[in-house]
Order: sequence, then structure tokens, then C-alpha cells
Amino acid sequence: MSHEHEHHHHHHDDDDVQEHRAHDAPLTDVELRVRALESLLVDKGLVDPKALDALIDTYETKVGPRNGARVVAHAWVDPDYKRRLLEDGTAAVAEFGFVGRQSEKLVVVENTPAVHNVVVCTLCSCYPWAVLGLPPVWYKSAPYRARAVIDPRGVLQELGVEVPQTAEVRVWDSTAEIRYMVLPERPPGTEKLGEEELAALVTRDAMIGVATVAAPAGGTRR
Ligand code: FE
Repeated sequence: MSHEHEHHHHHHDDDDVQEHRAHDAPLTDVELRVRALESLLVDKGLVDPKALDALIDTYETKVGPRNGARVVAHAWVDPDYKRRLLEDGTAAVAEFGFVGRQSEKLVVVENTPAVHNVVVCTLCSCYPWAVLGLPPVWYKSAPYRARAVIDPRGVLQELGVEVPQTAEVRVWDSTAEIRYMVLPERPPGTEKLGEEELAALVTRDAMIGVATVAAPAGGTRR
């Protein structure tokens, strides 16, 4: 049911802020600097905390995941690209100019009627930055990290994803070295849609594996 991976957490000192939020670890130097800057900017009235939240939300839900959505849509329409993507995700997303740090490898796992893949980082918040941007808060939360592994079907069900009993659920535990992205199933009824229209349907959550991609509401445009 779940795939066990060795979870090497050799995080680098120059890694991103979120990478270091393991458990109750003390704040890292970078985190302290970020917090100090944030409170200074807010105190000086230079930045509205709401604007900061909106900015983060934009990167979490819009800007970052658009990269992954373009990759997914391209894989749906181009079988050769899909093959390359599943064989070597790092190289395939680099064709779009999306690159991570040299230390990390991107592995893309395909959802099919027989297999539903879900991505988690059980120890902290390892995430495929190059294609999805910033990890959402819930992805970093202890309940998701623990329960995605113990009861992935239950978690999926709560999130509205019913995986048939006949299908296998695979849980991929991200690490500092290997980041996973889900290639969701292309929804039926989207055969006539172009690549850009398809990309618009692909959500961040679908590429984490906690949602499926739905055909456009009101049926497909033909
Ligand atoms: Fe991690």
C-alpha cells in the first residue's frame, strides 16, 4: 500500500526556509532573518501583513503550480513527452526551463485507474519547488504528514477523492534529494481541449495527489 523510502534528510545550510521546519526544531538562521525582516517591515508600516499573506497565497496556489500544470497538459497531449517525463522528470521539466537545485531529483508518478499516487514528506516539507512553487500550509502540517502514510485512503476520502477498492494507493515520501509530482489522470470529455485549456484544469492539489482533475463545468466546449 505504501512505498517505504529511505528518508535522507541531509538538508543543506543554504536550503529554503521551509525545508528546515522539521518538528520542533529551533529556528534556523534563515528563518530568524525572514521573521526579523517581516516584523520590521510590518512595524515600519512598509508592508501590510494581509498583503504578505496574499502574496504567499499567490505563489502557493497560482504562480508556482502553473509550471506543473503546463508540464501535465503537455504530457497529456504528447505521448513521447509523457514517456520522457516518467523516465526522467528532472530532465523533462528542464525542457520547460523548470529546474530545481542540483541536489534534487524530480520523480513523476502517473495516476491511472489502477494506481492512485499521493505525495507527502513525513519528516518536514520537502516539495517539488520547481514545478509546484511553495508548499501549502496543510502539506507541512503534522496531521497530514502522519495520516497520509497511516491511512491514505481515509485522508483522500476526507478530501473528496474516492479511490476504488480495486485500485492501489501509493504514498511517496519526499526527501531533500527526491521530490515527487503526480501526473493526474486526464479527465474524460476533454479530448477536444487544447494544451492551454487542459493546463487551466490542472490544480496544485491534483499534482500532489489529493485531488483529481475535473472536466470543465458545464461540459466540454466543442
Ligand atoms: Fe522533508
